[in-house]
Amino acid sequence: MATPQRTCVGCRGVDDRTALLRLVWDPDRGAVVLDPTATRPGRGVWVHDRESCVDTACRRRAIGRGLRRTDVDHEQIRRDPGFGFNNGAETR
Ligand SMILES: [Zn+2]
Repeated sequence: MATPQRTCVGCRGVDDRTALLRLVWDPDRGAVVLDPTATRPGRGVWVHDRESCVDTACRRRAIGRGLRRTDVDHEQIRRDPGFGFNNGAETR
C-alpha cells in the first residue's frame, strides 16, 4: 500500500505525509497549532518541517487559506517556537 501523499502549503511539493507537519486550528487557543500525531479532527494543512516552507506559506497566507479561516495570525506562526521547526531530525 502506498504511503499517503500530501501537498506542502509552502513549496507546493507533494511528499509522503510522514515528511510533513500537520497544522490545525485550535478553537480553544484561538490559534494554529501543530498536530504531531495528525489525529485532530477538522481541516488541516500540511507543511514541510523547514523554515523556508513555513516562511513561504506564511508570506502567501496559505495556512489561513488552507484552513478556510481569515483570522490566522501568520506572523505568530513564523515566530512560534512551540512548533519546533528546524528542531527535528531532518531526513534527507
Ligand atoms: Zn515544502
